[in-house]
Amino acid sequence: MRENDIRPRELLNEYLRLSEQDATTLFTDGARDDVPCVACASTHTEHAFTKKGFGYSRCLECGTLYQTPRPRLEVFERFYVNSVSSDFWAKVFFPQVAESRRAAVFAPRAAELARMLKERGFLARTVVDVGAGHGVFLSELVARLAGATGIAVEPSSEMIESCRKLGFEVREALAEDVTDLDGRGDLVCSLEVMEHVHDPLRFISNLATFTAPGGWVFFTTLGADGFDITVLGEHANAVFPPHHLNFMSVKGFEILCGRAGLTDVEVLTPGQLDVDIVRNKTNEIPGLLDDQPFIRALLGNEQAATAFQQFLANNRMSSHSWVLARKPA
Ligand SMILES: [Zn+2]
Repeated sequence: MRENDIRPRELLNEYLRLSEQDATTLFTDGARDDVPCVACASTHTEHAFTKKGFGYSRCLECGTLYQTPRPRLEVFERFYVNSVSSDFWAKVFFPQVAESRRAAVFAPRAAELARMLKERGFLARTVVDVGAGHGVFLSELVARLAGATGIAVEPSSEMIESCRKLGFEVREALAEDVTDLDGRGDLVCSLEVMEHVHDPLRFISNLATFTAPGGWVFFTTLGADGFDITVLGEHANAVFPPHHLNFMSVKGFEILCGRAGLTDVEVLTPGQLDVDIVRNKTNEIPGLLDDQPFIRALLGNEQAATAFQQFLANNRMSSHSWVLARKPA
């Protein structure tokens, strides 16, 4: 899999351009608050960089990278409703990559998650997907769990319609506004949402609330320990405000899950794209890695680059992160 397969350059650039427009039209006014580490709550942090007018800090206790000072929740709520970039994602970007993502991303993820649950001897009857989008992952997952049914939580009316057509029970809402799913899910999933949320502890606590005692929470997101984010820093496309706010470290994921009352936390980083992402960015910004001869040599050696990507995935050093954690019985 290559970055271009799931994020075609032209679509990505337009999405980034519209995101920048959102950042300047919807976030110019209003107070911003210094927030402690979103994973471990430490105030022992240092400013890392500012991108498009948004500051990012790194936690010196757990290594999490996160956006602060942070605009208030009401500003983000206005953004979720009026965002031209999110609209473009839902109506143009995602539909064009939906099928390539189903095959390259969602089906293999569903298969691997089903395998992990089986390995734990766990039978999930009800699966809740928070931020279900068009329901592609949920349909792939439910098909692999015998007898399971799906519940989709998704605030976008466009996307929830797809979930409804797939036959899922739906909640057209943000997770924090859903009040009738307490303990309903044997498995509660959330793919690529954590990096967006205003308050990660509140979000994971909501996932835990939707989970039945003894059930599992599973989420995927972007991690601060990943190769591409570590090497590219503020140049990483993944670090783009106002959409992506939180990049937890492996340690940060473990601490955050513990704070939400979850146990048996397993963090994996099965990413395949770090090296490709760094290579693409180096082509875009010549001279970016002039002071990194080792990395430049690595990127220029296809065999070594492939082996290195596998090394990153095996050692929890890719930025694409998976977290599986259990709610105590
Ligand atoms: Zn921290």
